[in-house]
Amino acid sequence: KRTMLIVRSFTILLLSCIAFKLACCFSSNISSLKALPLVGNLDFEHVHEASKDFGNRYQLIPLAVLHPKSVSDIASAIRHIWMMGPHSQLTVAARGRGHSLQGQAQTRNGIVIRMESLHPQKLQVHTVEDVPAPYVDVSGGELWINILHETLKYGLAPKSWTDYLHLTVGGTLSNAGISGQAFRHGPQISNVHQLEVVTGKGEILNCSERQNSDLFHGVLGGLGQFGIITRARIALEAAPTMVKWVRVLYQDFSAFIKDQERLISADNKLDYVEGFVIINRTGLLNNWRLSFTPEDPLQASQFKSDGRTLYCLEVAKYYFKLDNKDVISQGVKETLSELSYISSTLFTSEVTYEAFLDRVHVSEVKLRSKGQWEVPHPWLNLLVPRSTVKEFAKGVFGNILTDTSNGPVIVYPVNKAKWDNRTSAVTPEEDIFYLVAILTSAVPGKDDGVEQILKRNQRILEFSEAAGIGLKQYLPHYTTREEWRSHFGAKWDNFVRRKSRYDPLAILAPGHRIFPKAP
Ligand code: FAD
Repeated sequence: KRTMLIVRSFTILLLSCIAFKLACCFSSNISSLKALPLVGNLDFEHVHEASKDFGNRYQLIPLAVLHPKSVSDIASAIRHIWMMGPHSQLTVAARGRGHSLQGQAQTRNGIVIRMESLHPQKLQVHTVEDVPAPYVDVSGGELWINILHETLKYGLAPKSWTDYLHLTVGGTLSNAGISGQAFRHGPQISNVHQLEVVTGKGEILNCSERQNSDLFHGVLGGLGQFGIITRARIALEAAPTMVKWVRVLYQDFSAFIKDQERLISADNKLDYVEGFVIINRTGLLNNWRLSFTPEDPLQASQFKSDGRTLYCLEVAKYYFKLDNKDVISQGVKETLSELSYISSTLFTSEVTYEAFLDRVHVSEVKLRSKGQWEVPHPWLNLLVPRSTVKEFAKGVFGNILTDTSNGPVIVYPVNKAKWDNRTSAVTPEEDIFYLVAILTSAVPGKDDGVEQILKRNQRILEFSEAAGIGLKQYLPHYTTREEWRSHFGAKWDNFVRRKSRYDPLAILAPGHRIFPKAP
């Protein structure tokens, strides 16, 4: 009894010592950070917003939020932590809009950098009058929607997009940035000329193909591991004014992807190719065709989608003010005539280029008004090789995802040739691979619960593993080093080398849980 009492007292003493040490460490961290000479400010109070993300499942409370007003604020904060040496437990997470799914832009007891605070830096558009090919210089915290609005004033726009534009430049470039234009232009990381980066040692470096090219390629698709993107130079092209937007349906997956692949081939004249799966949705036609006009209203009204799995091909043709609309329509008609969709299911729409690119925001506004935006999002984004996509579809769309689920299931192919293998982004090693995005929301009381959706996601991953599908996760999430090593495959050694070169103390982007903080 006496021994137990002694052990208990000793344990309590030890815990108190640890708590005291942590408290001392905390307060010394706080006072040293408070002494930093910053143009912006460090907020130690209002930190809860920075502990949330779009996934709505992970919550790590940071010590402070940095609102930088200049790149030197970011460099000072990181340099300060770097100088504290390997014993400091402080980490730094850049936060774009916090649209991550599993806490990737969060840090427990570290510093979150609110990248949008850099946003007042002016966007600088360079037109063909000053340079051979137009580009725009933007802050790493800039939203793509703002870049669109600004560049359109000059009749220009970036070439490659994401489906949703209220994301930041640094956030999408840390992943890849993919949408229906990627088959032609590659992902957003293939359309950047130059970056300004703050490394994990607090150095401010410019990088491009020619200057610090190892850092440049490492940061693109690098999950924020090697540096914080504070500025980016993005390629522009002449902006179209209008978009002819078309949706057609297929019953057969093979026919659907055969046509998608035909449309992403080199001689294709369309500008955007995507698609989605419609699973067992009674009356859904009335939904997805909203604001689309059927080419043949009578036949379309007789088409029944009830209880079936269908595949919707979505394409777009851009055109300019001076283009002849009839010629454009005729061209689209000719392209469509070579496809084998269900003939009664041709739906078209005509919108401005801006409205087309910002289309997901319309859904955001609707979902927000119903309180269905800030719900958990157990999303699963996959890159599936062309050689196994049919088997994947049979197993996943045919057997696992048979219930109605709340959220789109997007499927479209991209050309590997448009991706630069020197970047950190990981894709399957085939000429064509498919983005399969299963974007399920867990609306309380309405749909499957989060746990059920996560179990289903796990079944998809296990099925794919057992069937040898050879997929890669996009916006990857893993919990063990072994899984990360396997994800990066042949790129792993280079990824580790770059980490030890640019962020040797593992200060940056701890939310991915790839590299533990150096001891
Ligand atoms: P955050 O979530 O804040 O950050 C993402 C990661 O990047 C974190 O690790 C963070 O630390 C790091 N990071 C942020 N800023 C910087 C920086 N300046 N420098 C270095 N690292 C940084 N993606 C697509 O590719 N295509 C799509 O069509 C697409 N559609 C989407 C639609 C919706 C509705 C949502 C919510 C997301 C979509 N995404 C899409 C995913 C999107 O690309 C990611 O969420 C991405 O993380 C960008 O979000 P963010 O700017 O909020 O970055």
